[in-house]
Amino acid sequence: MTKFLSGLAKGMATTARTMTTHAHTQQYPHVKPELPSRSRGVIALLEENCTSCMLCARECPDWCIYIDSHKETTPPATEGGRARQHNVLDRFAIDFSLCMYCGICIEVCPFDALFWSPEFEYSTTDIRDLLQEKDTLGQWMPTVPPPEPLVPELPETELQQLVVEVEPEDDPAAGRTTERGTGEVPPPGAGEQP
Ligand code: SF4
Ligand code: SF4
Repeated sequence: MTKFLSGLAKGMATTARTMTTHAHTQQYPHVKPELPSRSRGVIALLEENCTSCMLCARECPDWCIYIDSHKETTPPATEGGRARQHNVLDRFAIDFSLCMYCGICIEVCPFDALFWSPEFEYSTTDIRDLLQEKDTLGQWMPTVPPPEPLVPELPETELQQLVVEVEPEDDPAAGRTTERGTGEVPPPGAGEQP
């Protein structure tokens, strides 16, 4: 009986504590979530950078990138010059019902035409609507965040702590090698076999 009452009291205390603490549930869609800057929401296309090289489509493990293009000839800029051919992108589509968000297409693109956007509100009731064409992919470009610095900016004091004093191992002026860990140059003949 005592055990039952103590268990009941513990349960009531837990209930009372939970009732008075603030809920962590976010009220989406009324409150938008704060997403990490590198969130993989959707892939955006910067069409003017795309040369239709097909690298992304070939490397995509799900084969869910569809590209169509045709060649156009640019007349020579100067008399006697050579006409040049270039690809014109007709279609660029990604089927997000197949995409596994691996990011390989973005990594391999040699012309910086694909980017991660944190945009995630493109759910649909028809799976066929997840095939997004280049116009839609291009409309996501303004949502792409600026690239983060490769090295985070640290305060001066922390940067100083990171500076490691490197001891020279070779003394080119003397043509000899310093003792490891001491920085001292050994006397001539030291360490030679008799
Ligand atoms: S993220 Fe991966 S699966 Fe999705 S389109 Fe790019 S390469 Fe294909
Ligand atoms: S790899 Fe880049 S440039 Fe080549 S087709 Fe894909 S998006 Fe276009």
